Amino acid sequence: MKKETKRINLILFGPPGSGKGTQAKILEEKFGLLQVSTGDLFRYEIGNNTPLGQKAKAYMNEGKLVPDEVTVAMLKNKLEMHPDVRGYILDGFPRTIAQSEALDILLSERGESVDKLIALVVDEDEIVSRLLERGKTSGRADDANEAVIRNRIAVYHEETARVYNYYDKKGISMEVSGMGDIDEINARLSVIIDDLVSCC
Ligand code: AMP
Repeated sequence: MKKETKRINLILFGPPGSGKGTQAKILEEKFGLLQVSTGDLFRYEIGNNTPLGQKAKAYMNEGKLVPDEVTVAMLKNKLEMHPDVRGYILDGFPRTIAQSEALDILLSERGESVDKLIALVVDEDEIVSRLLERGKTSGRADDANEAVIRNRIAVYHEETARVYNYYDKKGISMEVSGMGDIDEINARLSVIIDDLVSCC
């Protein structure tokens, strides 16, 4: 009899500039998981000047969080568009406790839950220099200005970091060093995801 494979729900966590997006893209390829980046989804909506994009733009340009109800509805929609994937790598979501609770409800409705939250740990000076460097080519308004970058980091500490504790209480949060080169960091993450993929 064919063994039922369980979908993997992974949160790739960390402050802006910790390398979540870069790593999620590599892991997506490597493990056949779908990267779901709420930041990318918002940028797509802004690029197409949709009502959702218009709503999100002012918040993003100031380095503030887009309101939970808007973000959760967009995420839910994206997951529902891809029901048959092997798993999700959530990149940049959840960023608040309300988003975490909404995600848990969403997954429980399918008989699923978050399997693991992996936080990339990077020194703050390194983060600012990475983001300023990225701002030279990314075209992202929120990367070009040091005050906005500092605000995004402050929002991370004030609102988002507690998401780590929320899942830590469930015993599924862990930290991985996000310092070093891309391949090195990817190797650290791959060991953990290999375990998740092979067990379920
Ligand atoms: P990112 O690409 O993940 O760095 O996100 C860029 C910006 O998009 C953030 O600074 C927020 O303004 C917005 N954003 C992305 N994800 C979320 C989220 N889960 N909740 C609220 N705002 C978000």
